[in-house]
Amino acid sequence: MEEPIERAARDLINSNYAIALTGAGMSTESGIPDFRGPSGIWTKDPEAERRAYQTYHRFLANPKEYWEEKLSGPSLFGDLTKVEPNPGHHALAELEKMGILKCVITQNIDNLHQRAGTENVLDYHGNAFKLRCIDCNARFDLEEYDLQGLREEGRLPPHCRKCGGVIKGDVVHFREPIPSDVAHQSLEEAWRCDLMLICGTSAVVYPFAELPRVARQRKVETERKTGAGIYAVERVPAVTIIELNAEPTPLTQEGVSDYLIQGKTGEILPGIVEEVKRLRR
Ligand code: NAD
Ligand code: ZN
Repeated sequence: MEEPIERAARDLINSNYAIALTGAGMSTESGIPDFRGPSGIWTKDPEAERRAYQTYHRFLANPKEYWEEKLSGPSLFGDLTKVEPNPGHHALAELEKMGILKCVITQNIDNLHQRAGTENVLDYHGNAFKLRCIDCNARFDLEEYDLQGLREEGRLPPHCRKCGGVIKGDVVHFREPIPSDVAHQSLEEAWRCDLMLICGTSAVVYPFAELPRVARQRKVETERKTGAGIYAVERVPAVTIIELNAEPTPLTQEGVSDYLIQGKTGEILPGIVEEVKRLRR
């Protein structure tokens, strides 16, 4: 029986269009807690979860107040400028440089894939270092706006430089729709890929959790010789789905993933990269 890390490396090498889906588990080894794990943010502070469910509604009702609160309170995740990408982020960046990985779709808002050097990242739930216009979806870097200055002058909320629409933080709140551009591109990637590497997500937050299920549904037709001169056309799964997680998830239990490599993404991913290099030698 082949070792799972070798199997994953071989599957990656044989793929034509591999993508990765990542979640909070990808960044726990960088010191950012997940939500629902033993030291998760919600586990420790259920009141923060209740508030988080209301944030989007509060923004729509009163963007000025949303911004004033946002600029005066501490961030839910602490200071994200102080954390660093871990070996798992670097390994995914290396797989992209090797030409194997074509895209990373992340639920994380921490910008760590980009900082590790991955170029094609879709921030499914937005990015804590960006702002987004709710009318035209234009993204701006945080530094492009003097938010504290606007606050002191009583000119909050900020307005879009392209269309004048109201600006909110790019991070997608509970009950807020996924920005249409990212939602669309992510679906296209899920539909196109022939290998999906799912790293550190419990895959219970929708619509992100649809992506592996969408990929699983895709089938390709292949011709198989069943006897002399007799061919049968079969519809076979078009994608291999590999999960890397500390524990089994609904994707494992429902058979959406082909196999699970159980452990830490910061250890397994560099192991896979080493194995890819060894097999290619
Ligand atoms: P989740 O908290 O629901 O699940 C995390 C999963 O990762 C769990 O299944 C856990 O077993 C696994 N895990 C934890 N550490 C791991 C490790 N080192 N190696 C392998 N697996 C590990 O997270 P989710 O599925 O991403 O959904 C939570 C939502 O919270 C997301 O929408 C995300 O936007 C947001 N979030 C983001 C961050 C961040 O930006 N870093 C952090 C917390 C939450
Ligand atoms: Zn705009």
